[in-house]
Amino acid sequence: MRRLKVPEYILSIKPYVPGKPIEELEREYGISGSIKLASNENPLGPSPKAVKAIEGALSRLNRYPDGSGHDLVMKLSEHLGVSPGNIVLGNGSDEIIGMLTNAFLVPGDEVIIPRPSFLMYEIMARSAGARPVFVPLKSLSIDMESIAENISNKTRLIFLCNPNNPTGSVISGKDFARFIQKVPQNVIVVADEAYIDFVRDENCFKSIDYINSEHHVVTLRTFSKIYGLAGLRIGYGIMPEDISGILNRIRPPFNASIPAQAGAVGALGDEAFFKKTVRLVHDELDYIYASLTDKGIRYFPTQANFFLVDTAKNADDVFESMLKLGVIVRSMTSYGYPEYIRVSVGLHKENIRFIKALEKALL
Ligand SMILES: *Cc1c(COP(=O)(O)O)cnc(C)c1O
Repeated sequence: MRRLKVPEYILSIKPYVPGKPIEELEREYGISGSIKLASNENPLGPSPKAVKAIEGALSRLNRYPDGSGHDLVMKLSEHLGVSPGNIVLGNGSDEIIGMLTNAFLVPGDEVIIPRPSFLMYEIMARSAGARPVFVPLKSLSIDMESIAENISNKTRLIFLCNPNNPTGSVISGKDFARFIQKVPQNVIVVADEAYIDFVRDENCFKSIDYINSEHHVVTLRTFSKIYGLAGLRIGYGIMPEDISGILNRIRPPFNASIPAQAGAVGALGDEAFFKKTVRLVHDELDYIYASLTDKGIRYFPTQANFFLVDTAKNADDVFESMLKLGVIVRSMTSYGYPEYIRVSVGLHKENIRFIKALEKALL
């Protein structure tokens, strides 16, 4: 067979490695009853109102979805206090990241990305042939001053993750206000707020405040975490209309499926589930902090539904030991923290089991 011609910049991409699925772990180790605390999913399951709405939509599956996502866009517009023209739906917020990089980048452009942060920014920037410019975190937080200093005349996009995955840190409103003054208005600043609803820090920056400013600020949100709909694939971007107009040129018309649109509308009406999720995460974080402190294990406080633990050992080994005990976490070796693991907040009994497994793994 003849060798395929593949662009160099595509060959430079390392495939995304997702958290290990429970089924795979149990097959490999011949165990059962294991728990997954590796992908920041909602341990309470999906929003019940979303499930009900999805069930109600199933009889319409012979039809194509509403390409404009009318009902969901209207509901979001009301919910967020922005105009419908500011909203673009995606097959997960991942897809919006890809639309932004496809629409605005040509080979040679620069994209500023904090490191470590969510891996999709790098993958999508590279897939458009752009050059990622990495800015290291400072004390586990995004270094806004250093990001501003790295802006060049080739910079087109800046990705911010607030709270940051995997560190759980947030950018303050003050720091962002100072930062945005140094950003040329033709540079798009993307604030990924996948975990914004878990934030307790009142000083946290809210990107939606900038929707009508003279700057190009895009907010990314998702139904995957707080509403427990990661498997449904639905997220959205909130952005000035000169950006949404461009994204709608390349957006696949049926990227949000009928169940996804219906489920998301149902979820937005499920205030009780939203509150229950937030309360669980906050209560459990307080419990976990106290337990880890008690056992002398170092952790980093978080504003998200996951946190880092400093194992003071090889994180890959700790990860493996915990796997054998049926607890799936994430080793941070590939994120540049060879002794840290990232753990998602689970149900109370899962968190108890996590702490026991961690203790054993650290013996
Ligand atoms: C989980 C996560 C998302 C959500 O992606 P979806 O495609 O909407 O499931 C986005 N950004 C970050 C930082 C995440 O951790």
